[in-house]
Amino acid sequence: PRIPLTVLGAGAMGTALVRAWLAAGHPVTVWNRTPARAEALAADGATVAASAADAVAASRLVIVCLLDDATVGEALDGADLTGRDLVNLTTGTPAQGRARAAWAEARGARFLDAGIMAVPPMIGDAGSGGFVFYSGSPGPFEEHRDTLAVPAGTRYVGEDPGFAALHDVALLSAMSGMFAGITHAFALIGPEDIAPKDFAPLLVSWLGAMTGSAHLAAEQLESGDYGKNVVSNLAMQVAGNATLLRTAEEQGVSAELLTPYTELMERWLAEGHGQEDPTGMVELLDLRRGEG
Ligand code: NDP
Repeated sequence: PRIPLTVLGAGAMGTALVRAWLAAGHPVTVWNRTPARAEALAADGATVAASAADAVAASRLVIVCLLDDATVGEALDGADLTGRDLVNLTTGTPAQGRARAAWAEARGARFLDAGIMAVPPMIGDAGSGGFVFYSGSPGPFEEHRDTLAVPAGTRYVGEDPGFAALHDVALLSAMSGMFAGITHAFALIGPEDIAPKDFAPLLVSWLGAMTGSAHLAAEQLESGDYGKNVVSNLAMQVAGNATLLRTAEEQGVSAELLTPYTELMERWLAEGHGQEDPTGMVELLDLRRGEG
C-alpha cells in the first residue's frame, strides 16, 4: 500500500517530486501559493488543496519544497502540525535546519531536514545518480524510508537536523570551486583556435581523475599528518602557480578566480608546510583558529 502524502510547493522541484510520487502510486495532496501551478498537477492525479493548512491536514507525511526557509515559516504559519511528520526539502543553512526542527517539534511534529543533490530532470530517474541528504529525527526517516526513496536516493547523515544542509552546502561549495576553474580554463583557450567542444572532454576527464585526491586529504586530516604519503608537495605547487598566473597574463585573462587560492597556498607555505600536501590549508580557513 502506498501511503498518502502532502507536498507544499509546486515549483520546478516540487512539481518533479509530486510527479514521481504519483507515478509510484502514492495519493498526493498538493498546495502552491500560485494555484495554477498546483492545478497543473491535478491532471496527473494530484488533489489540490485550497490552503497550506488544508494540505497539511490531509496527510500525516508532509513534504515541503519552497523557495527558502523564510517561505517555509510563512507558508506553515496557520497550519496545525500536531502529529505530522514534516520533511523539509527546502534548501537552507545548518542553523536554519536546526531552528526549523525546534520550531516544528514545539508544534507537535516530528521533523527531518533535507538537502536535494539533484536537479528536477533527475527526480524519479533511478539511474541519474541524484540523491537527497536527510538528517534529524531517526524515527520518521526509518518509517518513511521507502516513500522518501521514490523521487531520489536517500542518505541519512545523522540526528543533528543541521547535518543535511551542511552536507548539501559543503558539496555545493566544492562544486563552486570547480565551476570557477572551468570558467578560467575556457577563458584561457578563448582567444585561440581551439574548439570548446574539443576541449570540454579533456576538462571532464582531468577533473574526474583529480577528484580522488579528496580520499588522500581525508586520510591526512584524520591522522593529522599532512606529510604522510605526499603526492604533490606544496612548495612544488606554489612554484607551479607562477606558471598558471603568467599564462593567464600571456592570454590576456584575469587571474581573479585563481588568486584567492594561490595566495592562500603562499601563506601556508610561509608557515612551513612546503613538504606536505596542501591538505592542512583547511586550518587557514578556520576563522576561530588561534582563539581560546
Ligand atoms: P521555484 O522557484 O521553481 O519554486 C519556488 C516555490 O516556492 C514555488 O512553489 C513558489 O510559489 C514558492 N514560493 C516562493 N515564495 C513564496 C512565498 N512567499 N510564499 C509561498 N510560496 C512561495 O524553485 P524550485 O522548485 O526549483 O526550488 C524549491 C527548493 O528546492 C529550493 O529551496 C531550491 O533550493 C531547492 N532545490 C532546487 C533545485 C533545482 O535545480 N531546481 C536543486 C536542488 C534543490 P509560486 O509558484 O507561487 O511562486
